[in-house]
Amino acid sequence: MYTLLKGIAAAPGIGMGKAAAKGQRPEQRQADAAASVSLTPQAAEEELLRYGLAAEVAARELEELAERTRERMGAEEAEIFETHLLLFGDEEFDGGIRRRIRGERKPAALAVEETASEVAALLESLDDEYLSGRAADIRDVAARLLRHLAGEGGSESAAVLRGAEEQAAGKESEPAAGPPVLLAADLSPSDTAQLDKSAAAGFATAAGGRTSHSAIMARSLGIPAVVGLGPALLAAMADARYVIVDGDAGVLHINPGDALIGEYERRQREAEERARSYGRLLAEETRSQDGRRVELAANIGSARDARAAAAAGAEGVGLFRTEFLYMDREALPSEDEQFAAYREAVEAFNAKRQPVVIRTLDIGGDKKLPYLPLPQEENPFLGHRAIRLCLDQTDLFRTQLRAILRASAYGNVKILFPMIAALSEWRRAKALLDATKEELAREGLPFNAETETGIMIEIPAAALMADRFAKEVDFFSIGTNDLVQYTLAADRMNERLAYLTDPFYPAVLRLIDRVIRAARAEGKWTGMCGEMAGHPLALPILLGLGLQEFSMSAPSILPARSWLARLDSRECEALAAEALELEEPDEVRALVEARFPFLAAGQA
Ligand code: PEP
Ligand code: MG
Repeated sequence: MYTLLKGIAAAPGIGMGKAAAKGQRPEQRQADAAASVSLTPQAAEEELLRYGLAAEVAARELEELAERTRERMGAEEAEIFETHLLLFGDEEFDGGIRRRIRGERKPAALAVEETASEVAALLESLDDEYLSGRAADIRDVAARLLRHLAGEGGSESAAVLRGAEEQAAGKESEPAAGPPVLLAADLSPSDTAQLDKSAAAGFATAAGGRTSHSAIMARSLGIPAVVGLGPALLAAMADARYVIVDGDAGVLHINPGDALIGEYERRQREAEERARSYGRLLAEETRSQDGRRVELAANIGSARDARAAAAAGAEGVGLFRTEFLYMDREALPSEDEQFAAYREAVEAFNAKRQPVVIRTLDIGGDKKLPYLPLPQEENPFLGHRAIRLCLDQTDLFRTQLRAILRASAYGNVKILFPMIAALSEWRRAKALLDATKEELAREGLPFNAETETGIMIEIPAAALMADRFAKEVDFFSIGTNDLVQYTLAADRMNERLAYLTDPFYPAVLRLIDRVIRAARAEGKWTGMCGEMAGHPLALPILLGLGLQEFSMSAPSILPARSWLARLDSRECEALAAEALELEEPDEVRALVEARFPFLAAGQA
């Protein structure tokens, strides 16, 4: 039976193939072994020895996995396995297992299951997203230990994939037998890290969000993924034979008909052809048809993203969302850890001294840090967040400023302050930066004293006062994601307000126009790092308004470069002037579509 499920688009692209359902975890399958066996003291000692050996093998395996992940994906992803390794010295986990074996004389497997369930349940009961994630880590390590205690090596997902491949090879009547698509209740980080494009055409899970570990890894690995499909996936899994994961639309087609398969095969071929044709633009500068130079930069969240962006043709980084370095961990990252990440990102672009704009911590609103308890707020998006928080927690802020400044000795760093509403905030932040520079100079640590410093324009008050800010800052970066929500007073997370969270409202265009003019009057430059910068229909308007830097997700860069090369900047200036006089976003889009039909066709 054909079923369509809607979930969260976690990693882009189309993945089609035989369904490979990942079953229950081994520790659940072995749960019925939980008879209350009491071993003799000697047998308990033997079990302790067996546990010690299994733990040793599992630890070695994790070390290798961490090493491989570090090479393939980067230090940040490898950290997950380093965290797993720590469990072997953990008093509650490792100590708990040993106590159960020796003190309660339980078999090793039972001791692992009971301890893991107890510790994981405790963490989950705390109703904290981060700690629930740690519960998943505990289950992951327990499953690994149980596999070794049972004398099985390797990972479960690898076994499932092997099984599905064998099955697919044996059934010629089914559509083409490439790698299968993995369906699972959830995927642990170690499961995901073992996948690659040749082993899995895609995956879909019932649990998870866009920022879950497996989603982050899928994006790094280029495996299309949809997560958060809910219990409906679990119900449909048994009946799933062939599936299509649409990682762009966030949907899963189960048992599609020939027509739908044909349609997706066509889309896949088109995407491959497009990607090939863009390759020639990789090393080119971005210019409009009449030769106006603009910069196409990438939005990144890690040093690894920086390397990928450089390989995808980015001419720099327009936004390094540093808050991702602070998430998924148990304590604030140290100055040295941050320095290493910033330096790595900067060095990825230093061959041509291309700029890397590092934004200081933008936490609060929907982004929380488990180890930094913040009071509950009625309106978190209007709350004590980003620069407001950093100006109150100056130790945290100065640690980050030191790390960014130290990285400035290794390339073209620019510093960006988020959520600036008032001139006083900018001045306080700048004063703290200057004091930090003096501190580093006293300590004899190298940094670039001339590091350009700018602000995000994402609050209407800042856009309206841009002429004053422009006298003091080096650049502006327009954050349309927030600028739109604050201008239209429409929460960007509320799907019922989608008609208002639209950057094509002339009210928003007028603010953008004002900001670019104010900067230009003072000889400063303006970039944009909100999602609007990567929207095909926005390109001619932004070019016409005089935007100099467009920062977007790395895969959008080459298409944008090819479209900009077909636009005449004078014609775009006239178009932008017309757009500013319209009333509704639909009118603005229709204007652009009528003038540049190839951009309308370029929309997803
Ligand atoms: C924005 O608000 O446009 C922006 C780029 O920042 P974020 O999406 O991280 O809030
Ligand atoms: Mg923002």
